[in-house]
Amino acid sequence: MNSHWKIITFFIICIAAGLGIGVGISKVVMNKKEVVQPVSQTKVKKTSETTPLVSDDVPSLAATGTDNASQSETVAVATDKAAAVPKPAYKCAVAPEGQADQWLAPVGPDYDLGKTYIPNHLVVLENYVVTSSSTMCLNASAALKLQVMESAMKAAGLHVVVSSAYRTANYQEGLLEKSEAKRDKIKNPYPLVALAGHSEHQLGMAVDLTAAPDYSLDNFINTPEYAWLELHSYEYGFIESYPSGSEAITGYSTESWHYRYVGVPNALAIHNQGITTYQYLKNLAIQESMQQKAAPIAGQQ
Ligand SMILES: [Zn+2]
Repeated sequence: MNSHWKIITFFIICIAAGLGIGVGISKVVMNKKEVVQPVSQTKVKKTSETTPLVSDDVPSLAATGTDNASQSETVAVATDKAAAVPKPAYKCAVAPEGQADQWLAPVGPDYDLGKTYIPNHLVVLENYVVTSSSTMCLNASAALKLQVMESAMKAAGLHVVVSSAYRTANYQEGLLEKSEAKRDKIKNPYPLVALAGHSEHQLGMAVDLTAAPDYSLDNFINTPEYAWLELHSYEYGFIESYPSGSEAITGYSTESWHYRYVGVPNALAIHNQGITTYQYLKNLAIQESMQQKAAPIAGQQ
């Protein structure tokens, strides 16, 4: 009997040992899986899907994110730090070569920029001032002056956020559709959004500004930031394009939040003459075309 028990005990030990080894092996396999899994999860998409627009006028801003191949390599090395990989820099649209810039055009219902017009020297606006998204562009000179103006406002305890800047004609078209669908035609008999090709935003010179407490366009007129801009924006080359009472002249509803950069000398002249930007630039365009017509006659004398 004793020898039988010894044989049975020996078999039980063998079975137990076999189970133990089996569990051990499966644990090792599981552990290996746990190690392998994060590597496959950290595969990062190539960045060729990002907007391939390139800005060539401000090299310091355009220096990052142009080489898709080198970006992919950087991402592959840093697989366990995928979250820390910086987002490729946004690229602004570039004007066709040789195109005359229309930055002083009297854009309005009767002035069409054309749907394909792209302004020169667009830069990423968020590199200059606070914006409500990281995909806004503005003319480089306007962006710099906006930064200077924002600093002056900050010194006065004020702060603005840009909610809209350069817009393509296509984007404008979509915006107009949405705005017109919900516009109260009695409260706002004039459109709040321009037709595609007829917007100052397409010039790359106009911004919509908002401020605390609610950062809404409608409430901007009640903020101390608006009161400050009414007194000082022209000193930095910015003019409120559609002031209250100018609807019949400009063809658009009043927009306390919309400012167009026209350069300091022009802004000073507009401020001193007490007229709208549209009227001033229309007069300027008439004067220029008269001078151009007069020039050959003067040359013949
Ligand atoms: Zn606007």
